[in-house]
Amino acid sequence: MIAELVDRVLSGDDDAAWELEEATEDDLAALRPHLVRLLDADVYLPERMFRAAGEDVQRAAVARIDMGVTRNFQLFRVLAETRGPVVEAAFVRWLKEPPPGIEAGVLASFLAGSGWDFDDDGRAREICGTTAYGLAPTGTTAPSSDRCPWCGGELWTALDVDTADPRVAGALAHTSWRGRLRIVTCFLCALHGTKYVDVTPDGGAAWSAYTGESPDGRVLVAEPPPRVRLTPGEQLPDLHFADGSALGGRPWWLQDPEYPACPACGKVMAYVGDVAPSDVLANDVAEGAIYLFLHTPCGLAAVVTQND
Ligand SMILES: [Zn+2]
Ligand SMILES: [Zn+2]
Repeated sequence: MIAELVDRVLSGDDDAAWELEEATEDDLAALRPHLVRLLDADVYLPERMFRAAGEDVQRAAVARIDMGVTRNFQLFRVLAETRGPVVEAAFVRWLKEPPPGIEAGVLASFLAGSGWDFDDDGRAREICGTTAYGLAPTGTTAPSSDRCPWCGGELWTALDVDTADPRVAGALAHTSWRGRLRIVTCFLCALHGTKYVDVTPDGGAAWSAYTGESPDGRVLVAEPPPRVRLTPGEQLPDLHFADGSALGGRPWWLQDPEYPACPACGKVMAYVGDVAPSDVLANDVAEGAIYLFLHTPCGLAAVVTQND
């Protein structure tokens, strides 16, 4: 049945592509013998169908890119789905010497958007989690005596978790953080640029001087921030969680990816999770997403906000 569907896809039958995706959703390995045929015909969508690709398919894809075929980055996305040593080596090479028609800077931001960073000796560093848990409202956070230097309002506790909880340890394994991680920011000023937070493993969290000055010296009438506490719940089946707050996994960006660089050392910060404003406010209409990042060696967290 899979072979038949692949035949139909290759003959240009769009319905068959949907059927194939559905038929292989829970068994990507069944597609493996057919991936080279799809690749040879430049049929890569959806890229997730290639997650089970073996090194033969990866090498074939790398060769096509070396010949200048990328189909508007689709082929890069295929490789980013499969990962593994063949793919890593190819990306390290392309970052130094881009394939035909591709700019190195564009490729680097594509890789950052895929949750990858490469160090100087070409080793890949995961900046996203390999497991994810939903964050659910349970109880309240204590009021803070710390104030937002921009508006004078009370700082908001966006996250307060501890790696003593195995779910937290799993979701944050890629960050190398050990201990209590508390991230505070100003709920009202969160929209105005990236905020940085000095964090320590005992749960210490303070507005960082790296955040800089308020953009236009704004003074607001401050309301108290939400006091809802979010704690890890069920493990999520998908690392790209689109619906509600989550710890670990990969960000579901509402706009273009904005992985912040650590303001102290310049490295891409690791993704911690996101908070959906509707989970901490007593209404369903709050939109947007608040993304949390961490660079453990420098003890800095970052808060990035996007709106729909
Ligand atoms: Zn503020
Ligand atoms: Zn750093």
